[in-house]
Amino acid sequence: MSYHRQIIERSDRRRLCLYSKEHRSYRQFEGLPAIDSAPSHLRRHPLTGDWIGVASARQWRTFLPNQAECPFCAMYDGGPMTDIPVDDYEVAIFTNRFSALSPLPDMPPDLSVATAPGLGICEVISYSSTHDASLATIGTERIGLLIEAIGAEASDLFAVEGIQYVLPFENRGRENGVTVDHPHGQIYALSNIPERITRQAEVFRFGNPLMDAMTGMNKKLVISNNDHGVAFVPEWARYPFEICVVPYRRVASPKEMSSIEIEGYAALLDEAAKKLDAVFEVPMPLTMGWHLAPLGYEDVFHFHCVFQPLKRSKTKMKYLAAIEQITSLFLLDVPPEYAAAILNGLAHPDD
Ligand SMILES: [Zn+2]
Repeated sequence: MSYHRQIIERSDRRRLCLYSKEHRSYRQFEGLPAIDSAPSHLRRHPLTGDWIGVASARQWRTFLPNQAECPFCAMYDGGPMTDIPVDDYEVAIFTNRFSALSPLPDMPPDLSVATAPGLGICEVISYSSTHDASLATIGTERIGLLIEAIGAEASDLFAVEGIQYVLPFENRGRENGVTVDHPHGQIYALSNIPERITRQAEVFRFGNPLMDAMTGMNKKLVISNNDHGVAFVPEWARYPFEICVVPYRRVASPKEMSSIEIEGYAALLDEAAKKLDAVFEVPMPLTMGWHLAPLGYEDVFHFHCVFQPLKRSKTKMKYLAAIEQITSLFLLDVPPEYAAAILNGLAHPDD
């Protein structure tokens, strides 16, 4: 372990974890007050089996505050209250004030479809106290700390009774509905493994497609590689410029990685993030997921990250249209081989 963690338990059951490379002390302030969250619950779609979270508290969440009122910036004397009420920090993980789920949910309503309590935990992870930073600019050392923080937090969340699946993720870009510009991701801990994720995890019981892809890799699809892993545009990409980042050694979670493996993996994420921003010379709007093993799949699942960019040309967004939304048949405008050439500076993207 090459990080320090300080946990600040707040009176309203909210938790703030501060991660740093070296031990440090924090000056604390009075932070933003709790929100009286409206109860949430789950309803099961009778045709697909998917769960739908009904959470009206999210309607009131912070919407595009200016930098002076950013809730994820550090605090200072005379400044506005924030979610991270300390004078400075490196990586912070804290309870989402507008959680869609609750560790102590109410009973769900009685409906004609199956319902369940909205059991789960929603957290925010801030990558930096610098408001205009991003994964592409924080540097490999900070990304390494982020990887360790995610590994530690996921481990804590899996230890909560009833939690079966943990997804750290990032929504990036206003085009993608982001409501706070500060560089951050979220972590959702769920009481069930979504159907789609179960299908993905089950595949690993019969083989390891990620290991197969790395063994038979078309070198032209490689974006970056080192002794510890590879970042590549997968042949199965569904999004333009999609990048998959996989450690060579199979681990269920980044918590199982050694310090040297984390360093190597951080370098791959850094290069992938930088190359995505270079494609159109603007920050790439995207979603990014940290795929850790769901509960029960720790012995077979291969941890990996996937960047799903949402721009297909300088002026055009990749929208999920009817065919994608209804059938999950994705239509890809930028073939993987061409996307990799562009990311590697060997071809020019469309205007
Ligand atoms: Zn900020």
